[in-house]
Amino acid sequence: MTARSRTPILIGISSCLLGQKVRYDGGHKHDPFLTDTVGKFVTFVPFCPEMEIGLGAPRESIHLTSSSEGVRLVGVKSGRDLTDLMRTYAEKKASELERKDLSGAILKSNSPSCGMERVRIHGEAGPPARNGRGLFAQGLMEKLPRLPVEEEGRLNDPALRENFFERVFAYRRSRDFFSTDWGVGDLVAFHTREKLLVMAHAPAAYVSLGRLVALAKGQPRADLAARYETDLMEALKTPATARRHTNVLQHMAGYFKKLLTADEKQELAGVIEDFRLELLPLVAPLTLMRHHARRFQTAYLLDQSYVDPHPKELMLRNHV
Ligand code: SF4
Repeated sequence: MTARSRTPILIGISSCLLGQKVRYDGGHKHDPFLTDTVGKFVTFVPFCPEMEIGLGAPRESIHLTSSSEGVRLVGVKSGRDLTDLMRTYAEKKASELERKDLSGAILKSNSPSCGMERVRIHGEAGPPARNGRGLFAQGLMEKLPRLPVEEEGRLNDPALRENFFERVFAYRRSRDFFSTDWGVGDLVAFHTREKLLVMAHAPAAYVSLGRLVALAKGQPRADLAARYETDLMEALKTPATARRHTNVLQHMAGYFKKLLTADEKQELAGVIEDFRLELLPLVAPLTLMRHHARRFQTAYLLDQSYVDPHPKELMLRNHV
């Protein structure tokens, strides 16, 4: 373990989600799951873009509008145009957050500043189109394209929630690794530990990342690090389906082919099948798999991030 890997995991967050009274109406949007459960494992770095550009609370509500100059951020009543102010702030703030070395960001949905997707854009006529992105979210995601970003509303979906935290912890492992004085052999070892996790998300990326690592010798290290991390984070964005998890679990079971009794093999196959049929959550076959891996000291499996991708207390795999 490096000194860096012992430092807290930092997650940027729209401060209204922590219960801070920063919304336009002077209220908040406290999300107890984030403060009471996630908050035990990470350190939040709160921001409120609208407060930080000096709007105060309560304030006039603002929204996105389409115009001949593109999407603008304006006051609903006054028509005051805040686009340039917010863009400048977003650029500066994103650089500041980059220096802080965040491992993820959780943004408030539907906000013309913080919303990540499907934010209303008002036109001159008709209902607003729900295809916008808040201006701060846009600046942040452009500056830090590999950073895992999610909205609090989508985190209510167990699969999206698991996916987000998997990406947060994977990004952190990657940042920790590439901050060391690594060599190609270290990259091979790092990639070996991530293999099954990647396989569960994107089998094609499993192949292409493997090729990237195999051809790593002689490549400029900075380029290689950027390429590997980009491809890893892109791969993990693809949802891990029950079918892909089942493939990975069957692949893992292959390691015990000569070690388990016929009854034990049948039990393991049955638990994997019950997971595939959605009768059991993922945690069930993985617990049995971990048990056998420890029993037979199967180092390759015990080292896999797939087996423990995030703190078990988050209970993310009890629901997928
Ligand atoms: Fe502030 Fe963003 Fe929350 Fe709006 S959504 S109150 S800008 S933190």
